[in-house]
Amino acid sequence: AKTSHSKLVCYDDEQNNYSPDRLAMIGQLRSAIDNDELRLHYQPKVGQPDGHVTCVEALVRWQHPDRGLLSPDKFVPLAEQTGLIDDLTRWVLTAALRQLTVWRRARPDLSVAVNISERSMNHLDLPQMVFDAMNDTGAEASALVLEITEGALVTDPERAGVVMQHLAGAGVRLSLDDFGEGFTSLHTLSGLPLNELKIDRIFVNDVLNGPNDAAIVRSVVELGHNLNLQVVAEGVETAEILALLNQMGVNAAQGYYFSPPLPAEEIMDWLAASTPPNEPLQLPPDNPE
Ligand code: C2E
Ligand code: MG
Ligand code: MG
Ligand code: MG
Repeated sequence: AKTSHSKLVCYDDEQNNYSPDRLAMIGQLRSAIDNDELRLHYQPKVGQPDGHVTCVEALVRWQHPDRGLLSPDKFVPLAEQTGLIDDLTRWVLTAALRQLTVWRRARPDLSVAVNISERSMNHLDLPQMVFDAMNDTGAEASALVLEITEGALVTDPERAGVVMQHLAGAGVRLSLDDFGEGFTSLHTLSGLPLNELKIDRIFVNDVLNGPNDAAIVRSVVELGHNLNLQVVAEGVETAEILALLNQMGVNAAQGYYFSPPLPAEEIMDWLAASTPPNEPLQLPPDNPE
């Protein structure tokens, strides 16, 4: 900005902790959590190569009275900065597990994934919050996957490790989200009770074009498999990308190619239309009789 005028124009009120707008949002978010203005959309993780869906990821939205449906980028960071994140996480866990117990009557193999913010991952209270949500909803630990970003491991790897051990010890599955964006050392990675690695969509999107991205994805798949982890590719948008990922051996894929995140009813319709839950996919026989 060259002049004071353009400075004013470029001013970013998200960085101003005391802007009236931000203060209003904080107050509104607090009541939104209590007044059921939050919504969950769900996006399937599609098993490869058979297409069988065993997990859907819950992604939170805020049905704001004036601003419409807000994406998590607009309010999750705010919740993290203001201490509302625990209430938000509790709401998401309870809502997702409650929905899951309904779905599991028809799809007993289905699990739900919930995103846990960096800050909550470093809270020693998180496991108790998770166990309370399981008790309140009657959900089994093995039906829950928690997605953690690499950032949570960088801030305080030891503490995050303790939280993860506690959760994993109870049977909750753990997934490392947006993998490749951060700098988790192989030492840290191999010492954690993880079940899954999700390759960041930045690499997935460029896997056909950038030779480096292809190399990164290939080595993350190999790394994950060597550590006995399921490898999931996020942000898959085309059949060509999916084909290459399959060649590389990913265990599951997620992205707009299959389905965007959808409200609960719509995702069930999508699941019913995609693969029948109890019938294996019929492959043509090699030697027809
Ligand atoms: P994430 O967990 O990595 O979720 C993936 C994001 O990519 C989602 O955005 C999803 O809608 C989007 N996405 C899925 N497929 C595609 C695709 O093919 N192409 C593209 N370009 N994007 C795709 P969303 O829903 O806006 O969520 C953004 C982030 O917000 C999430 O990233 C997650 O870190 C965070 N988040 C979402 N829900 C929660 C929550 O309940 N709690 C916390 N703490 N964080 C959440
Ligand atoms: Mg996620
Ligand atoms: Mg992700
Ligand atoms: Mg992300």
